[in-house]
Amino acid sequence: MSDYLRPELKGLDPYVPGEQPTGRSYIKLNTNESPFPPSPAAVEAASQAAKGLNLYNDPDSKALTHAMAQRLGVPDECVLMTSGSDEILNFAFLTFCHSGCPAVFADITYGFYKVFANVNRVPYETIPLKSDMTLDYKDYLGINKTIFIANPNAPTGLAISRDEIEEIVKSNPSNVVVTDEAYIDFGGESSVPLTQKYDNILVTQTFSKSRSMAGARLGMGIGSKKLIADLNTVKFSINPYNVNSMTGAAGIAALQDEEYTRANCRTIIENREYTTLKLRELGFEVNDSSTNFVFAKHPLISGEEVYLKLRDAGILVRHFTPENIKEYNRISIGTREQMDALLSALRVITEEIK
Ligand code: PMP
Repeated sequence: MSDYLRPELKGLDPYVPGEQPTGRSYIKLNTNESPFPPSPAAVEAASQAAKGLNLYNDPDSKALTHAMAQRLGVPDECVLMTSGSDEILNFAFLTFCHSGCPAVFADITYGFYKVFANVNRVPYETIPLKSDMTLDYKDYLGINKTIFIANPNAPTGLAISRDEIEEIVKSNPSNVVVTDEAYIDFGGESSVPLTQKYDNILVTQTFSKSRSMAGARLGMGIGSKKLIADLNTVKFSINPYNVNSMTGAAGIAALQDEEYTRANCRTIIENREYTTLKLRELGFEVNDSSTNFVFAKHPLISGEEVYLKLRDAGILVRHFTPENIKEYNRISIGTREQMDALLSALRVITEEIK
């Protein structure tokens, strides 16, 4: 640590992304990426856009915003495109939370929320999930705090209904409810329609999962015109050119190739159902996932042991250390071949304990 660090940032515990290994080639099921490449149209558009990299990109991302707004059926002014959905989430913490209005989120959810709260120096509170890992929307009614709900939730994979989100939004009219829909294309009901009915809901989505563009960093927020205007003020105070021109062009092309995305989502969902069934046959307890990953534990083998043995076998999954989830592993859904390799390795691991 240097002598120059702001004192209040001294204890900052940063987010630790899943490993991106170099060297040995692993079957990578640890960061919920798509196993499929981006749409060829997106790749071509990015490479064409690269020829104009001497110029700044459009700070309003007008064409991309319009294409996205059309796809979602909302006005352009209700959409803000960002560098991954992490950026819009960070903007939301910065814009809508303060000492009189803490952030609140589930005790088991996306680990970045508490880091965003800490780096923005805003207080936060957590609400425990139920013992079966479901989120009870009643815990969030009338709490008068800025609420962050990943729906479907990560790493549990479980979703709540749009009606339940609506109850939360209605009962907290003085506060913003942020619904993080990073995994919405794999199940669950989007709350985007609620953004046209209430002015205190912000929905965030991403191109990282269903659209195979994690490395391009493209996400968005959808909300009322006023909410988006506030977030734009913050964006233009931090990083006006936040979506680079290659990513912007790739995003538009990906939106024009929607059938490619839909087909990949269908395959992932099929592979998820197959993997869930086979894991249960091997004795694993597996949540009913609405995402592109499953969350699973074995009653007789520790979560860490499963993780380490899979790693030895050349397969990376995500293991978390907090006490309440340490027996689980989060396993991203890949191709059928990747899932068969995972299941073969787990068959060996589970045989060893017999
Ligand atoms: N929300 C959730 C729940 C996530 O799991 C992730 C992925 N790590 C994100 C948001 C952020 O994804 P990205 O910044 O790639 O859009």
